[in-house]
Amino acid sequence: MKKLSLLLFTSILLNCNGNAQQKEVSAATYKITKTEAEWKAQLTDLQYRVLREAGTERPFTSPLNKNEEPGIYVCAACETPLFKSEYKFDSGTGWPSFDREIKGNVAFSTDYDLGYARTEEHCATCGGHLGHVFNDGPKNTTGKRHCINGAALEFVKSE
Ligand code: FE
Repeated sequence: MKKLSLLLFTSILLNCNGNAQQKEVSAATYKITKTEAEWKAQLTDLQYRVLREAGTERPFTSPLNKNEEPGIYVCAACETPLFKSEYKFDSGTGWPSFDREIKGNVAFSTDYDLGYARTEEHCATCGGHLGHVFNDGPKNTTGKRHCINGAALEFVKSE
């Protein structure tokens, strides 16, 4: 029983979201704003659920999770460069993970969807939800783990 609750606790900690209630991304102050109908027309169902409704993709489902090619990860909604391949590491969580973001292109806020404070991150240009940042990343670099939905990203390979 002790083992089970420890396991549960760990999986909650490692989880990107935990399927908490969805929340709409506010279109308040972003350079790129579109109506929800326009986003819906542009994005796939999964991209829309993640980027516009702050949903979470199932772990180990994104083809970008294991991608190790050199290049840049851009916002799937507006193509703003968000992460570089050299920031990527295998966190074992099943979501693409980075130890830092491209400064200025990612914005942060606090959410309480799971009943405690977590730092949510979103595209600074269009407001699209990306994932969360945690303090259990690689200790030899930044110590941060940016836990990002692959569905929120598109990969642009370096030439
Ligand atoms: Fe964006």
